Amino acid sequence: MQLNIKKILFSVLLGLIVMGLGVAALQNKKDGSQTEAYSSQPASNPFAAAPPSDNPADFQVYSLSGPTMGTSYNIKLVLPAYRANEIKSFALGVKAVLAKVETQMSTYQSTSELSQFNDSFKGEWVVVSKPLYKVISAAQSLSSRSQGAFDITVGPLVNLWGFGPSHHLDQVPSAFALKEAFDRVGYNKLLLDAEKSALKKEADLYLDLSAIAKGYGVDKVLEFLVSKGLENVLVEVGGEIRAIGLKPNGSTWRIAIESPLSNTRAIQKVINIRDMALATSGDYRNYFEKAGRRYSHTINPRTGKPIAHKLASVTVLHENCMMADGLATMFMVMGPEPALQFANKNNLAIFMLVKSEGGFTEFSSRAFSQLFDDK
Ligand code: ADP
Ligand code: MG
Repeated sequence: MQLNIKKILFSVLLGLIVMGLGVAALQNKKDGSQTEAYSSQPASNPFAAAPPSDNPADFQVYSLSGPTMGTSYNIKLVLPAYRANEIKSFALGVKAVLAKVETQMSTYQSTSELSQFNDSFKGEWVVVSKPLYKVISAAQSLSSRSQGAFDITVGPLVNLWGFGPSHHLDQVPSAFALKEAFDRVGYNKLLLDAEKSALKKEADLYLDLSAIAKGYGVDKVLEFLVSKGLENVLVEVGGEIRAIGLKPNGSTWRIAIESPLSNTRAIQKVINIRDMALATSGDYRNYFEKAGRRYSHTINPRTGKPIAHKLASVTVLHENCMMADGLATMFMVMGPEPALQFANKNNLAIFMLVKSEGGFTEFSSRAFSQLFDDK
């Protein structure tokens, strides 16, 4: 429970940071630069197609927020004045989309489709919904690309360390309990049949989609809003973000990357994104401490234990939020050097904060530098 409150606080504050920057950017408009860029390029005016006005003053940013997946969501929509009356129906639609993802993928709901699969017997093929299959198959591809650094079968270990839905003991488990949970982990013990949209456990597996479902939820909400004709939207669930289009003043959405500090909030870096998703994983929000050691909610599936290296946070940019979310956790397991190597080899944009004496050192992959640092 305590952990959930921490998470909710985290995302509400992140939302506020995003909002705050939004306000700052709108105020910047007074200096003329943003407005000029906007009005001097009518061809790229994102609102040009929206009747009956192409005057940015006729557009407003609306906010929607609420609880979901043990955390919260924050959405910003740019709407022309003549569509303002639709905001209530967007709010209901968004709620329904997120509630559906929870009924499919939550381990916190004992009746969710995922929980039902977790309760099923090993050795049997179980047909699952297309969305659940899609997310599990994306997770499996991350597992094989990372030789098991990312692994949704890590659930028994997550629960044992006290980061699952039931108990939060804040205790280091016994070697016996660890071994028992460890034997139930391994992504290659989960078989997939794409044609039948079916899954089979070859051991007593318990799947945990917490590291990827929030990102999937962001994508689904965005998809829903786009289907309603919206072109300028920012969606955030628990710190995972995807943004399309621009703000009414013509500027891009500004996102704050936090400094990885537990007791305070500070901004490490601000980036502008357009038509991109971004997710951050870190060891500074969800953890417990015992005998001077920090035990993070990110588990290394190869050791059965929380990660132990100097990577404090990693931010990943990707075209969709499901992959950004999963990749962020994957990099968090890998640690700084392998993560940077993997990102550069696979042309992924990542930004890492690595603990160093007295603070943090920033590391950007080549793709990240090209996008954000060279400007
Ligand atoms: P973060 O923002 O730190 O990435 P997430 O909520 O996205 O946090 O993912 C962390 C959650 O993922 C953990 O609470 C746990 O449920 C699950 N998890 C932990 N270790 C792994 C792992 N190695 N692979 C996949 N999921 C994991
Ligand atoms: Mg994640």
